[in-house]
Amino acid sequence: MKIFDHYYFYENRGLGSNSILIDASPKVIVDTGMNPRRLSKRMAVDGFHPEEIGMVVNTHSHIDHTAGNRFFRRRGAKLLTCIGEYLDLKDVCLKVISTPGHSPGSVCLYDEDNRVLISGDTILPYCVGRWDLPGGDLESLKRSVLKLSELKVDYLLPGHMYPLTNRKDILESMNAIMEMLGI
Ligand SMILES: [Zn+2]
Repeated sequence: MKIFDHYYFYENRGLGSNSILIDASPKVIVDTGMNPRRLSKRMAVDGFHPEEIGMVVNTHSHIDHTAGNRFFRRRGAKLLTCIGEYLDLKDVCLKVISTPGHSPGSVCLYDEDNRVLISGDTILPYCVGRWDLPGGDLESLKRSVLKLSELKVDYLLPGHMYPLTNRKDILESMNAIMEMLGI
């Protein structure tokens, strides 16, 4: 489903994560989920094919986000494991924000020009990802949420559940999260 210029969101209601396709140069998939064949079929509806994907990025290393990586790597995509401060895709520039808490290496990707936040499992609509899995930490999560709350966001694309596509809902969601965590 097209969310906005350059951004396609594939919601997953099963075990795997959502996937986000960024139509830039190269084309990128953020989180490949657990069923790459099904994802490919859904991408095809929007005119994309797995061979066109040049890069795979994961918001964190949990298996429900990464199991599909191999499928895309076999078809030529590079896996970006060591992300710098920015992911510059020519048409789209994303800031890489370190957001530990759900897992130690979690990152969010923020497109400041278009006000898009790809939030992985750090923040979800009206809730946060679990912090009780190995490597999770509530205090780090609170700091990460606080950092994200300072961003201007019109499109929130989370790792599970559904996207939020207007600022009012995103603010409401963020306020509910901060209240829940006592921030
Ligand atoms: Zn996770």
